[in-house]
Order: sequence, then C-alpha cells, then structure tokens
Amino acid sequence: MKIDAITIFPEYFSPLQLSLLGKAQEKELLSITVHNLRDFSTNNHHSVDDTPYGGGAGMVMSPEIWGSALDPLMLEDTDLIILTPAGKVFDQQMAQEFAGSSHLVFACGRYEGIDYRVGEYYSHPQFVAQSIRVHEVSIGNYVLGGGEVAALVMIEAITRLIPGVLGNPESLAEESHNEEGFLEYPNYTKPANWRGIAVPEVLLGGNHALIATWRAAQAQVRAQKCD
Ligand code: SAM
Repeated sequence: MKIDAITIFPEYFSPLQLSLLGKAQEKELLSITVHNLRDFSTNNHHSVDDTPYGGGAGMVMSPEIWGSALDPLMLEDTDLIILTPAGKVFDQQMAQEFAGSSHLVFACGRYEGIDYRVGEYYSHPQFVAQSIRVHEVSIGNYVLGGGEVAALVMIEAITRLIPGVLGNPESLAEESHNEEGFLEYPNYTKPANWRGIAVPEVLLGGNHALIATWRAAQAQVRAQKCD
C-alpha cells in the first residue's frame, strides 16, 4: 500500500517510523510519504490560508494550494481522505475497507479547515472514471486542532490489517470491533495474584472449552457495559 499525507506540520508524522509501522516500511509492505503543504504555496510568506467568504472567525485553507499539492497524487485508483469533524465517523469497518486500497491520500486541515470545493473538485466524473474516490472522514465527535492526529489514528488502524504487518496475524481473529461487533474478553498474564486480585480460576485450569465459554460470556458483559 502507498500512503501520502499532506500537512503543514510534517513533524507530526515522525511516529510512523516506530514499531510495527516502521518495520512494515522496511519490509516494503507499506510506503509512506509526508508532504509539506507550504512547499506548494507561491507567496512570499508560504501562507496557505485566507479569510472566509461570508465573514466569520478564523481562516480557511486555500483550494489553489491544495489543488497544487493534490494534483500529482491523484493517480488511478486512489482514496482521497479529507479529514474533517463534519465527516463520516471512522470505525473498524471503514478501516477494513481502506485496508484493501492500494493508495490512500490524507489531507490534513488546520485553521477552519480546507475550502469545500477541494472535495467537490476531485469528486467530478473525470476523477470517478479514474477510480479516484473522495471521503470526508472524522475520527470522532469532537474537534481537534488539525487533521494530523486523525491521520495517524487512521493509518495505524488501517495498516495493521494489511497481511504481514502484524507479527502474529491470529491477534486479529478475536479482536474487539470485529464484523460481529464483538468486544474482546479481559486479558491477564503472570502473576496469578497481583495486589490481592486473582486471575479468574477458569483461566488457570487448561480446559479450553470452559475458557472459550467464559471468554464469550465476559465479552458480552463488556459489550453491555459500553452500551
Ligand atoms: N471549523 C471546523 C468545523 O467546525 O468543522 C473545524 C476545523 S478544525 C479546528 C481544523 C482541522 O482539524 C480540520 O480541517 C480537520 O482536518 C481536523 N480535525 C478536527 N477535528 C477532527 C476530527 N474529529 N476528525 C478528523 N479531523 C479533524
């Protein structure tokens, strides 16, 4: 999978070199490129924003600069993800869908966000015909200062679903938020008694059928608590 992220703060993406994502890039399962939006600004101060039509507080990111940054990345078969708190809320199902993509482009807004016409433009039939799909996505119902953290959240959730990225793919099998809407049972490790709290007896007995029944029941209890 190829990932491009466009931002005015490329430094936000340095954690992508760590842990599983760093290894996945070394193994060439993934290639991630971060672009500085200011490099596409032609004015002296490298500014990327302007005042909003219709008035109001704050500044809006310029469609001209976004267009210059995005045009070279809008290759055949691309998912353009415009991060916005007004978008469709990201979840595990969406992560699964994006994990099947060959090219993701993350547009990280700042200030009052990106001029709305950017998403409209790349939704034109000429781009649809090239399998370019535009998605407005939010990572939750709250407002962040910028789209960088949202892109990091999405990249981590999506890329760990790519075959070969996780050391042990069985870790995915019984995870929370799978297709059945399951939440994972509680997990324990040694010692068997920690600060007076004992590991449930059933997990110590080695009876796999009983353990499976107990885990299924605990997963349900957890799901009810979260309702
Ligand atoms: N004025 C916008 C609004 O009220 O919808 C909020 C803009 S926010 C301060 C600046 C940028 O942060 C947005 O353009 C977006 O890229 C990002 N952002 C903020 N909250 C987000 C969220 N919940 N999910 C995804 N991106 C978010």
